[in-house]
Formats: sequence, C-alpha cells, structure tokens
Amino acid sequence: MSNVRLHDKTFRPFIEYDKIEEAIDRVAARINEDYQGSKDAPVLLCVLNGSILFTAELMKRLTFKCEIVCIKLTSYVGIKSTGEVRDVIGMTGSVEGKRVIIVEDIVDSGRTIENLVRIMEANGATETKICTMLMKPGCYKLDKKLDYVAMEIPDDFIVGFGLDYDGLGRNIKDIYVLDSDMKYYILFGPPGAGKGTQAAGMAERFNLCHISTGDLLRGEMAKGSELGLKAKALIEAGELVPDEIVEGMIENKFDTVKDVSGFLLDGFPRTIAQAEALDRMLAKKGESVSGVVSLMIPDEMIKERIKHRAAIEGRADDASDETISNRIKTYHDKTEPLVDYYKKAGAYNEIDGTGTIDEVRDRIALLMERI
Ligand code: AMP
Repeated sequence: MSNVRLHDKTFRPFIEYDKIEEAIDRVAARINEDYQGSKDAPVLLCVLNGSILFTAELMKRLTFKCEIVCIKLTSYVGIKSTGEVRDVIGMTGSVEGKRVIIVEDIVDSGRTIENLVRIMEANGATETKICTMLMKPGCYKLDKKLDYVAMEIPDDFIVGFGLDYDGLGRNIKDIYVLDSDMKYYILFGPPGAGKGTQAAGMAERFNLCHISTGDLLRGEMAKGSELGLKAKALIEAGELVPDEIVEGMIENKFDTVKDVSGFLLDGFPRTIAQAEALDRMLAKKGESVSGVVSLMIPDEMIKERIKHRAAIEGRADDASDETISNRIKTYHDKTEPLVDYYKKAGAYNEIDGTGTIDEVRDRIALLMERI
C-alpha cells in the first residue's frame, strides 16, 4: 500500500481491507446474537453517503430478516466535523413501529448520532440502536453508549471504505489517514556541541517551535518556582532532572503551541525512558520522530566549548570542572545509548559538529531539508 493523493492532500495507509473485514465479521456476529430469532424485521438505517460500503458488508453477514432504509443528511465539507446539527434531506422508507439499527461509517463528537436517534423517535421507531464501523473515543461527547463499534481510532482525518475527502476516496477499499506535514526533529549531541547555538536559526528557517528543556528549566529556576528549586541542585551538580518533569514540559508545549510546521527538540530526550515517552506522546497524535540530527564533537572539545560559553553566558552548571566532568559522564552513561535507539528506529543522522558556526549551520540545514 502506498500513499494516495486526493485534491490537495496526501493520505497514508492506516487500516488494511483484511483488518476491516475481520472487524465487520466480529460486529456482525454480535448483532446476529442479539437479534437471532426475532419475529420482526428490524431496519438497518444506512446513513448516506459514508456508510454505503459498511452497510453493504454488514448486511451480507446478518442472518436474521431485516430491511434497509437510507437516510441522507446535509453534509459537512472539508476535513473537520463542524459539530453542527445536520438536517434530513430524505429517507427512502418508513421506520414507523419498527426497531432500527443506525449504521454509521464513523462517529466522532456524536452530534449526528444524537440527531438521528431523535429523528428515528419522531418517525415512530420503537427502538434505536447504533452500529458504527469507526469511532473516535477521544472526541465522543455523549453519555449514550454506542451499541456496536467495529473499530476505535484516534482523532485523525481518514478516507476510504466509504469515507471521503470532499467527494473523493470513497471507493478505496483500505482506510487511509491524512499524512501530517508536521515535523518532529531532535537536535542531539553532547553538552557544548552547539545545539542551542544552532537551534534558534533552524527553528526560524523551518518555522519550528524550538523547545530547549535546559532553557525551560533555567526559566523555572529564575522564577524561583517549586519546579525550579527542585531542578537547581541537580542541574548545578551536572545530574539530570527526573524524567517526568521534562516530559511534562514537552507535552505541554506540544499541546499549546499552534501555527508552526513542527518542533525542534533540543536537550530532549536525554534518556531511553524519555525517548519512549516521546514516542508515546507522538503516537497519540498519530505522529512519530521525523529525524534525529546528531551533532558530534570529541570529548576534548566539549570541555573547551563549555569553558568558552561559561565566560559569555555565566551558567552555573558551566562554572566548575567537576560539574562539567559529571555532565560529560552523565551524557555517556544515560544519553549516548539513544544513538542506538534511534539507529534502530531508522531516524538517526550524524553530522560533524566541529568547524565554524556557519559551517555547522549549513550542514544541519542541508540535512533537515532532506528529512
Ligand atoms: P542544557 O541546557 O540542555 O545543557 O541542560 C542543562 C541541564 O538541565 C542539564 O544538565 C540537566 O541537568 C537539565 N536537563 C535539561 N534537559 C533535560 C532532560 N531532557 N532530562 C533531564 N534533565 C535535563
């Protein structure tokens, strides 16, 4: 399966046809169990256009007597549900005195479902159950429990198997998800490699939000916050602050910063546990690390560069030889294992961090353009 392009957007493979069929088998089996032996012929209410394929596939698998009625509501346009109540355009049959199973392709906020249940009641249905191929638990706002859910998905925009993007994509038999254009870069390297120096320029050049956990922690220290006080002693000893603290800072930025093309992480992750937490945070958004840009310099140069910076910036953790040595040790012990972690993930890219600031900047920019 490769990416598909519809109008102005690219979609990547998400759920293969086989998996969709298996999920429909399972949901149909549950419906058969509940309706087996019933004397009436319940109505499947196919909500056009999206649930055409799902309704057809579901119906083939049902083993009790049933009817079908199609309903068409006013549609929403584009890639976001507006959350507005949609009006009925038409219904192809009566539900008066009948049990109804609403068959939806996808349920997000649940507004349409709420509306449909009301419409069924107003049209004399004796009972209304809801069956959906897909649901987004993260978006669902109603208390009402859905009766039959074939698959749960995160809050992503999807197409295929009946679902469309402005009219196109319904005929694709697999389900595809909108491919995000967001980039998540990690600027990696030992202390003093020049990450901070280069990050600001790269963030501006690629419209990224630069997150430096070191800067954020120093900000907290300057404010004298509880978090800052907790971090101070550790930072000044050249130790790492606890994973949960920095992970919380990163997640907060991901959730609040808008209107950027991505993020440039500087000084995070610094441990395998942080890298795993980052993977989990991104997976929740349907994203992953786009690439690691690793700035490498030899150990002798680390000390030289930090001493030079100490003279300019006056950072407390640059001041003593002991702290610097401990930071280098912490880097080798806890952070360097990330090289293998990201090599295994196929995301690792190393560049030579020696040379002038301009030379290193050009190497980084060239690499980031390729990622
Ligand atoms: P930096 O400015 O990136 O050199 O960070 C300065 C100090 O802040 C580090 O030596 C750590 O004590 C702390 N720090 C920054 N980022 C992290 C992180 N991801 N995990 C743990 N501690 C961190």
